[in-house]
Amino acid sequence: MPIDATLAYDDQNIFARILRGEIPAKKVHEDEHALAFHDINAQAPVHILVIPKGAYVSWDDFSARGSEAEIAGFVRAVGKVARNLGLVAPGYRLLANTGGDAGQEVPHLHVHLFGGRHLGPMLAR
Ligand code: AMP
Repeated sequence: MPIDATLAYDDQNIFARILRGEIPAKKVHEDEHALAFHDINAQAPVHILVIPKGAYVSWDDFSARGSEAEIAGFVRAVGKVARNLGLVAPGYRLLANTGGDAGQEVPHLHVHLFGGRHLGPMLAR
């Protein structure tokens, strides 16, 4: 079920629970502002989720309320993860679903990082 990205943050969401260590995740990077881990249902040879450590529902919420330090830290973390995985030369794709039309399912901002093969057209038609 897609979420309503206008709702308040729910601290019982699955990524909040991963951040608190209540649920395991295959982590690939962690720093002050971000956590990156493998998607449980990978849709490409590389499919990583990068999430901010703060309580933000979506890209909309984060871009509106995130501090300069959180936003800079998060963006740098996404770039670092891709770089560390060797994806810059072959290329990669970032995706942040926001709300119902995009099919966002987890109400904690996450950026999908896809790579490892040619990723095809940008959107299904
Ligand atoms: P979205 O549709 O953009 O909200 O994407 C949510 C993503 O979270 C999906 O790709 C799921 O496979 C992934 N996901 C859900 N639960 C977990 C989990 N416990 N660990 C890793 N990835 C998860």
